[in-house]
Amino acid sequence: MNTDRSHALFARATQLLPGGVNSPVRAFKSVGGEPFFAQRAEGAFLFDVDGNRYIDYVGSWGPMIAGHAHPQVLDAVARTMRDGLSFGVPNALEVTMAEAITSIVPSCEMVRMVNSGTEATLSAIRVARGATGRSRIVKFEGCYHGHGDSFLVKAGSGVMTLGLPNSPGVPAALADLTLTLPYNDFDAATRLFDEVGSEIAGLIIEPIVGNANCILPRDGYLQHLRDLCTKHGVLLIFDEVMTGFRVALGGAQQRYGITPDLSTFGKIIGGGMPVGAYGGRRDLMSQVAPSGPIYQAGTLSGNPVAMAAGLATLDLIQAPGFHDALERATHALCDGLETAARDAGVAFHTTRAPGMFGLYFREGPVQSFADAMGSDSAKFGRFFHAMLERGVYLAPSAFEAGFMSSAHGETEIAQTVAAAREAFAIVA
Ligand code: PLP
Repeated sequence: MNTDRSHALFARATQLLPGGVNSPVRAFKSVGGEPFFAQRAEGAFLFDVDGNRYIDYVGSWGPMIAGHAHPQVLDAVARTMRDGLSFGVPNALEVTMAEAITSIVPSCEMVRMVNSGTEATLSAIRVARGATGRSRIVKFEGCYHGHGDSFLVKAGSGVMTLGLPNSPGVPAALADLTLTLPYNDFDAATRLFDEVGSEIAGLIIEPIVGNANCILPRDGYLQHLRDLCTKHGVLLIFDEVMTGFRVALGGAQQRYGITPDLSTFGKIIGGGMPVGAYGGRRDLMSQVAPSGPIYQAGTLSGNPVAMAAGLATLDLIQAPGFHDALERATHALCDGLETAARDAGVAFHTTRAPGMFGLYFREGPVQSFADAMGSDSAKFGRFFHAMLERGVYLAPSAFEAGFMSSAHGETEIAQTVAAAREAFAIVA
């Protein structure tokens, strides 16, 4: 496989961008080697600057649920941008987006658009603190909520990939206000809330932990957290930046039947453009400026082009049977990979939710962060490269979920499993 152009670009990039990238996991640090540079993308495929084609299971880390460069999304963007790129005054598409989100996600009675998932989560905990008058927040080991100071405490995703779950630059006094819990541990949550529940403003959770690969909640766990939060006056915040509009149209809260007080979104609602949103109960969201005193703002928030891309994507995923088909495709892929691993004698386990999956080089089950950490990441790295050489791009980290789109059909899945058969034989 020729990678000369990517190699030359990476050499230039490393001179000027930290690690050669604008977001850490892209640098392939944990799997070794160098990243490829994208030229273009279409459907289920990424094409690099050297002309190589990859079946893409990263999907720009989640937004591309309808496949890359979907004509309806591109048309909406092209139509909208002809009228101007940013106005700095309200535009109709923001209202349509707010109507779409609040009708799809009933727990969101009001919503505020921002420009990234990080902004969404930062703002949500500000609302939680402002509304409750309390300072502490609770998060879970291995969960990633963007790079805000309060969240870089036992964080997942790239933070974990690089072995830095606590970042220098986060003042200890602030980090001390973030309490962490082991995900899926019922008793630990009960104990913490019994001890300090009255000091906690909000509990933020990835309902499915996509940033420690893909850990699913145990039966009743999210309801347990809901009950604890209600009992102790703590706001339950579902970070659905990854799961929102993916694991069900209404996200994980719909899939598991839980009503959070606040939710955060990103990725899919921007259709590939920079976007985030937070929303929730009307009595909480109406405390946000200018209707209330809790301040949050953004020069480009509600950008019309981003709204157009997101609305076109939301249209596509509301087609009848969209999420059922996504779920079937996810099972087909994961079943195929498990069979291939078994045939090669490799200890391997998958976890799945519609449109997202986790690959673990260990026997199952995987229910906790410790289980996820028990995956053989060196073996994953070898598997990753064997797949890449065979034209399949997996997330370049053993701690990131994979993503499927509606463009991943039977042919792409069969090609992926065939590549995996060879790759498992290499790593066995
Ligand atoms: N929350 C979750 C669950 C995420 O997965 C991410 C990013 O992957 C974020 C928040 C941060 O979003 P962004 O990268 O858009 O700032």
